[in-house]
Amino acid sequence: MYYEALRKRLKEFESLRGKVSEDKKEELEESIKTIKSYLIKPYTILETLEECLFSEYQSLIGSQNLWPLCENLAKHVDDDMPYYPYPDLILTNNDLLELTHDFFKNATSKEIYQLFLKLYRQRKNAYFVDGQYELSFYADCMYLPFDKSFYLRIEKRNEFADVATMAHEYGHGIQFLTNYSGTLLTSLYAFHELISTFFELLCTEYYTKDTTLGKKAIASNCEFWDVTCENAFLLNKELQILKSIKTYSNNDTNDIKTFFEFLTKHSNTKELEEIIGVHPSYDFIYIIGYIFAIELYLIYKENPDYAFYLLKKIMVIDLRKDSESYFKEILKLGIIPTSSLDSFKSHLKRELTRL
Ligand SMILES: [Zn+2]
Repeated sequence: MYYEALRKRLKEFESLRGKVSEDKKEELEESIKTIKSYLIKPYTILETLEECLFSEYQSLIGSQNLWPLCENLAKHVDDDMPYYPYPDLILTNNDLLELTHDFFKNATSKEIYQLFLKLYRQRKNAYFVDGQYELSFYADCMYLPFDKSFYLRIEKRNEFADVATMAHEYGHGIQFLTNYSGTLLTSLYAFHELISTFFELLCTEYYTKDTTLGKKAIASNCEFWDVTCENAFLLNKELQILKSIKTYSNNDTNDIKTFFEFLTKHSNTKELEEIIGVHPSYDFIYIIGYIFAIELYLIYKENPDYAFYLLKKIMVIDLRKDSESYFKEILKLGIIPTSSLDSFKSHLKRELTRL
């Protein structure tokens, strides 16, 4: 169904080529490119450990300025977070949509809610897959700048996280409607999950106060923390390996490949496989997004208006900037990533006493 709809849109857009005004041409081409990227699954199976290492290296090397943030979050792995129950939750597709709507209506600003409504009105484009881990990911969304259309896909897991994940995907849409550029998927990819994760956290916070969903939301919030710390821990192990390359290779491709061969010959291959085999780089953007979202979330708890003011400021940062300048712009707003990890953890622990 989903792919059918996408193919239909693609045909429609391709038939418009040569018929649209000059100023819409770029948006049309961008939209065609986007749909195609969702239709073709570029899946290369990497055979050797060296190939895996090289691919991990390529995806992470451009964001070295953000590596220390992962290190900071990784330190919180396996700490003294107590055990919590994680109960099932069965919701219809419509329930899920309505809970997401109620969150945006009651817990965000007027401006955000208006943007959300523009996406929500297109909810016929929301596709739900029932359990069974049929997709290779939890959910995703697609935005087509040509007509501002928004598609969403989620594999229902019957957990509270389904609701928070819906808020996450709509969060992407809100960023796209406010300020869109293909660079969010290329040069600024490291920041791709920042806005969406903020809404995911906020939605969870909102439902912790709900009589029916409260406990599930609290447990979900803690699970989110645990999993992200664990992912940061694994990624950090890999980053330590990648760091040694810098001094050795001067970033020359052949030198790097030689180094990897040397590394795999002279280290404990099993251990190396355990680290690289899980492709820690996949989680990088989610870890970075979470780290920034935590800071914004804690500001929200003190002063929601100010948090939404900052959120808007982040969304309108010039998307033609490179990753490093984009990062600097966020810092200029007074958001200091990883400075509040301890207070966030204390907040989660206080919440757990309500279970
Ligand atoms: Zn996302």
